[in-house]
Amino acid sequence: MEEFLNHFKSHSRADQRWLSAVFEAVQQQFSPLLDSDGVSVVRLAQSVVEKVQRAVGSDYTDLPVSYRIVSVSELIRDQRTACCSSLHWSSAHYRDQAKKAEQMLPNYKALPRDNLLLIGFLCDGRADGTSEGEWRVRDAGGSVLCMMLKSSCLWLGRLMLFPTWNYIPQNAPGAAGYLEVVDPPVCVTLEAMTFDPGGALTEVMSVRHAAELLAHSCEDQVCVGGQVCVVGPLLFICGKRFFCLVLSDGGSSVALFIREPKHQYWRQCVCVGQSVWISSLRACSLHGLEGRRVLTDSCQSRLHPHTPLQEDSEEQDTHSTADDTRTPADAAHSLADATHTPADDTHLSGPAVRVKRSTIISFKGTVMKILNAEAGLYELDGQVGLCLAYQPTQKWGGGLRPGAEIQLHNVHFTYQASPFAPRVVLWACLRSSVQITAFSRLCSELQVLGPHGALQRLLLERNLGPSQYLWLCYCQKAIAERLSPRWVRPDRVCVVAGRLLDVVCDAEQKTQKKRNIYREMIQEPHHCPITMYCVRWPSAALWSVQQLCVWMLREVWSSLSLPALLSASAAHMTALELNAALRWSSVELRLEEASPDPLLLLGVLELQAESATLQLRDHTHTLHCLCVRRDYSPNISTAWQGCLVCVRRCTLVMERFMKTNFPSWKHLDQPSYITHKHCRVYLQLCMDDLIIISPSSSMSRHLADSKHTHAQGHAHRGCGESSKRPRSADAGVCERADSSAECVSLLFRLERKHGVTLQNVSADTHTRQLGFMCRAVCVGDVQRWSHDPKNSRIQERERDGGGQTVELHFTGSCVRWFPVLHPGCVYRLIALNTEDVGVLEAKGVSARGGVTQLSSPALLLQPQWRIHTLTEEPADAQAAAPALMSVSEVLHSSSAPEIVSFHGIISQRITLQEDNEAKPKNKSVSSAADTQEDLRVRLTVQDAECPGLMVHVYLDLSCGLYTLGLIAGAALQVHHVQRRVSRACNVYCRSLPISYVSVTGLRSVCSGPTAAPPPPPMMLLGSWASVRSQKCLVGQVKGHVVCVLSLRLQWICSLCSSIFTQTTCGRTHPPCDSTSAVFQAEGKVVLEDGTGEAHVWFSSESVCDLLMLNTVQWEGLQRLIRVKGHVKVYTRGRTMTCDDSPDDSLIQYLSCLCSSIRVCRQIHLTCRWRAQKTGKSQLRKVHRGQTEFICKFPPALQLQCQHIHTR
Ligand SMILES: [Zn+2]
Ligand SMILES: [Zn+2]
Repeated sequence: MEEFLNHFKSHSRADQRWLSAVFEAVQQQFSPLLDSDGVSVVRLAQSVVEKVQRAVGSDYTDLPVSYRIVSVSELIRDQRTACCSSLHWSSAHYRDQAKKAEQMLPNYKALPRDNLLLIGFLCDGRADGTSEGEWRVRDAGGSVLCMMLKSSCLWLGRLMLFPTWNYIPQNAPGAAGYLEVVDPPVCVTLEAMTFDPGGALTEVMSVRHAAELLAHSCEDQVCVGGQVCVVGPLLFICGKRFFCLVLSDGGSSVALFIREPKHQYWRQCVCVGQSVWISSLRACSLHGLEGRRVLTDSCQSRLHPHTPLQEDSEEQDTHSTADDTRTPADAAHSLADATHTPADDTHLSGPAVRVKRSTIISFKGTVMKILNAEAGLYELDGQVGLCLAYQPTQKWGGGLRPGAEIQLHNVHFTYQASPFAPRVVLWACLRSSVQITAFSRLCSELQVLGPHGALQRLLLERNLGPSQYLWLCYCQKAIAERLSPRWVRPDRVCVVAGRLLDVVCDAEQKTQKKRNIYREMIQEPHHCPITMYCVRWPSAALWSVQQLCVWMLREVWSSLSLPALLSASAAHMTALELNAALRWSSVELRLEEASPDPLLLLGVLELQAESATLQLRDHTHTLHCLCVRRDYSPNISTAWQGCLVCVRRCTLVMERFMKTNFPSWKHLDQPSYITHKHCRVYLQLCMDDLIIISPSSSMSRHLADSKHTHAQGHAHRGCGESSKRPRSADAGVCERADSSAECVSLLFRLERKHGVTLQNVSADTHTRQLGFMCRAVCVGDVQRWSHDPKNSRIQERERDGGGQTVELHFTGSCVRWFPVLHPGCVYRLIALNTEDVGVLEAKGVSARGGVTQLSSPALLLQPQWRIHTLTEEPADAQAAAPALMSVSEVLHSSSAPEIVSFHGIISQRITLQEDNEAKPKNKSVSSAADTQEDLRVRLTVQDAECPGLMVHVYLDLSCGLYTLGLIAGAALQVHHVQRRVSRACNVYCRSLPISYVSVTGLRSVCSGPTAAPPPPPMMLLGSWASVRSQKCLVGQVKGHVVCVLSLRLQWICSLCSSIFTQTTCGRTHPPCDSTSAVFQAEGKVVLEDGTGEAHVWFSSESVCDLLMLNTVQWEGLQRLIRVKGHVKVYTRGRTMTCDDSPDDSLIQYLSCLCSSIRVCRQIHLTCRWRAQKTGKSQLRKVHRGQTEFICKFPPALQLQCQHIHTR
C-alpha cells in the first residue's frame, strides 16, 4: 500500500483516502483472480488510477474522489433502484441528456445518477456454470450479467474499467439485476492486446468458395471470411446451445452454426454488416436438413473482426444498414406494394379470411412502450408493433426498455394482421437479428419472465400463425383483467385463452405445417410461420360485461322512436290512450347486431338472490340473464352455476319504462313531455348455445355422465356445439375445495313451486324479505357421506325409505335457487360439515299455542346448503313434471279448476294504470328503480297451436320479483293463476301471491330471425257465433257488407274527450283550455258470409278504408266535421238519417256513400271477438205469409275489425 501511495505524495488527504480505497479494492477483488505470475498489485492499482484519470479526461492530475469504487457483490446487494454512472459526463451533460429522454417519453423519469466506479473482469459466464452466450462482469465477490452495444472477443477475461453504465436491479428476492454498459469498457491490464489467430490462418476462404466447397465433401478445416448478414437468436435444443451466423459475399451466402460452449459469447461480438473471419471451421450435415451441409466451429476456431472494432466499425455499420433501414413511412410504402400484389392473397378456407404474404425488411426505431412483456410485444416509434415471441425469450427482455433504440434486420412486416394490435407489426423470427443500438436513459419497471412464458409455450405447441398469436395475446390480457384471479387462476389464464382461440378458429385454420427450425434459419428463400398471415383475423372482439351493458344502455334510448312505438291509430288517440301506450316498450337485438365485428362475451354464471335470476358476470359488471333452452323446456340445471362460459349468440333485451304527458300525437317530437324514464337491460341466453370454457365441477361430472349414457345408448346425436365442449374437469375456474368434508344429503323430487313474494320475517317486526315455497316428495331418507357427493349418480341406499311430502321454504339468500328448481326434477340437497341427519329432517310446523298445523312437515333452507340437479331419474319415479294446460283448455274446459297452470305465447303486453286508491303498495325490494315502474300488466296469451285462442292474464308484479322476458312473442308458462269468468262471459286469469311466470323462449333467440307469427285462423261466421268457439278471439273472415248500421264521426278534445268544435273544447264545467283535438270515427256494419251474420265494428283508421275514401277525401271530410264537431248517421228503414238536421248536405252525402255498392261489397277482414254487454236473446217479429211469429234470436255476433285485407 505504501509503495503505491508513494507515487501520489503530492496529493491531498482526500485523494490519499480515495487512493487507498482503490488499492484495497484491487487487492481484495481483482488480484485473487489474476494469474500468480501476473503483475503486482501495486502496478495494477497504478494502472487502474491511470485509466480512471484518462477516462475522466480534462486534467490528468485530478482524481475523481467523488466516485466510490463499488464491487459487484455490493452492487447486487445494495443497489435497490435503477441508476446510471459515468466518468465522462459533466453534470450539465447528464441533465441535458436526461431532459431530452424525459421529453420523448413523458411517462418515465430519467435514470438517477450515482457516482460509482465499477471495475471487473469481463467473462462469458462459463465460470458461473452457464454458457448462455452472455457477458458477465466478475470480481472476487461475484458476477453480474451485463449487456453491451458492441463488444470484442479480445475482451474476454480482461480486467476492464467501465466508464459509463446503467444498473437495472430486480427487486424480487434472490434475483440480481443487470448492467447496461453504455460506453465501451477500457482495458486495465497492461500487456498489449495481440490477436492470436489460433490455428492456421493461412488461407481465408471467400464465402462463394466455401459455399461451393460445401456442395462437395470436404474434411479439411477452413477459415472463411465475409460479411455477417444474419445473427440468429441463441437456441437451446436437445441439451445443446447454439446459434446461427450467415456470412455473405456478393451473391452467395454460407451458414455457420456456432456450437462450442466457449464460443457462445461470440454472438455478442458480431453484428449485422460487420466483416469477420472465422477459422478452423468444419463441414457437417445436420439432422433434419436432408443431407444439406453447413459449417460449424471447432474447438480451435477463432473469431477475428476484419476491421478494428473500436474505430471504423461504427461508421461502416451505419453505412451498410442505412440502405435497408426503413422508417415507418417506408414501411407504409411497402404495405402499398404488398396490397397491390393480389397474387399473394390466398384464401384459407372460406372467403372470409384473407391470407397475405409478409415482406422482409430492416428497421431502426425506439422502443416507446412495452405492450405485453409476457407476449413479447413492444411498441416502436409510437405506431409500429414489434413481436419477439417467435424468438426464444431473452433475459430481462434483452434490454428492450422504453427509450432503447434498436436495429432490426430481416424482420417480417405485416399490415393489419389483427384488429387488436398496431396496424404494422414487425416480427422477429429465427432468421432475424435484433440489436440494441442505444440503451434507454429512463427508469422502467423490469418484468422478469421465465424461460418460456405460457403464451410462447402455447405458440409453440399449437404452431400458431402471427394473426392468431396476436388474438391470443389480446384474449389473455382481457381474461387476466376481467376474470383473474377470482374466477380464473393466474396460471390458467393462457389455457382459457387457448380454449377461446379454439372457439374462434377451426382446427385447420389454426395449425400450420410442422416446423423445421433449421430450414427456417438457413433455407433460401426464407420460409417460416410468419411468412403468411391472415388479414384482420380472428376479428372477434371480446367485450367485457360492462362494455356490453354500457352499449345497451346507450342503444336503448338512441333507438327510441316514439311514433314507431305507436300503432297506426295513434292519430286518433286521446292523451290518456297515447301516454298509456308509451309506458312500456322493448327492444330485442341479437348480439351480432351490436358490432360489425363478431362479438364474444366471457363470464361466469352465478345465481343471484336479489332478483332470483342467473347472471353473467366478470370483474367489471354483472348482467341478468333469462336462461332458456332450445326445446322450450324450462329446466336449467344447477350445474351451470360457476361455469365459465363464452357467449357467441344471445339476445340483448332492453325494456323501457316511460312516464309521459303528451297532449296529442302531434307533440311526439317534443321530448320535454317525457317526465320520467328508465330501463332494464338483460341477456337472453339459450343454454344450448353457450360454450363452456371451464366447467364447474358439477358440470364436468354432468357432461361425463351424459357422455357415458350416450355411449351406452345409440350413436350420439351430438350437435355441433356440445361436441366442442371441453373434455376435462381441469377447470381454470377457482372453486372452493371442500369435497373432503363430511356431509348429509336428501334426495327429493320437486312437485310444485310457488312464486317469490315478500314475506314477513317474524310476526312482530315490519321487515320483510323475499321468499318462496316448494312442495317436494322425498325419494329416500337422509344419508351420511364422508365426502361431498355433489351431483354424482344416485346410490341405492339413497332410495331407501322416503315417500314423505315436505314443504321447502326458501328465504333470504336461498331465493337464489329459484331459477334452477323445476317441478318434476330430482335434486340432492346437501348440508356440509355435519354428520347429523336430523339437520335435513322436516318438522311439523307448530302454530301458536302448540297446535300442529295440518300442512306437511317443513324444512327451512339454510344459506350454506347446496342443491344439485340430478339428471338420472330414479327407477320408482312415476310422475314427471305435472302437465300444463294449453290456453284452449283454460278457455273451454268447463271443469277447469279455479287455479290453473298453462303455457302459451305472449301476443301483447299492456301496462295497466296504477290505481290511485290508497292501497298500501307492496313494491319489490330488489332495486330502487322498481318503484318507478308500473308493475301491473295485462298479458294477452295465445294458444301455442291455435293462435286465435287468447286469454288475458292480469299480473301484479309489484309484490314479488320483476319477471324478465314478458315480451310479445315470448313462450311462457303461467303457474298457479286464478281462472275467472267476466260478466261478459270472458275467461281471464289473475295472478295470486303463489303465482309465477317463467319465460321459456323469446321468438328471436333460439330460432334466429324467423318469420312473423302465424296468421289467425279463417273463421266462418256461423260457427264463430256458436257458443263453443266464441272464445276464439281473433280470426279472419270473408263476407259481404250487407249494410252500414251506423257511422259516427267526431272531433274530441285530446285531454277531456269532450266534443271539439272549430278551435275550442266544448267542455264548460269547468272550462277546458285545451287546443289539441283528435278526430275519431266509428262505423258498425252487418257482415254476412252465407253461414251467418255478424255486426262488425270499425274504428277510426279502418273507417276510411271501409268507406273507400282516398286521403284527400278523408281529410276533406274531417274538415267538414270540424264545423259541427260531430255527426252521427244511422239506418232507419232503407235509408240513413240523423237526429238533428237530416237534410244537411253532409248527411245526404254520407247516407249515399254508405248505401253505395262501393261500401256494400265483398270484403276480407281480420276481426277480434267483441265482448257483449248483454247476453240476452232478442225477440223479433217475423212475418211468414199472413202469419206473424215472435222469434227468439240469439244476440248477433259482435266483431271488431282489426285489419281490412281488401280495399
Ligand atoms: Zn421468418
Ligand atoms: Zn277539453
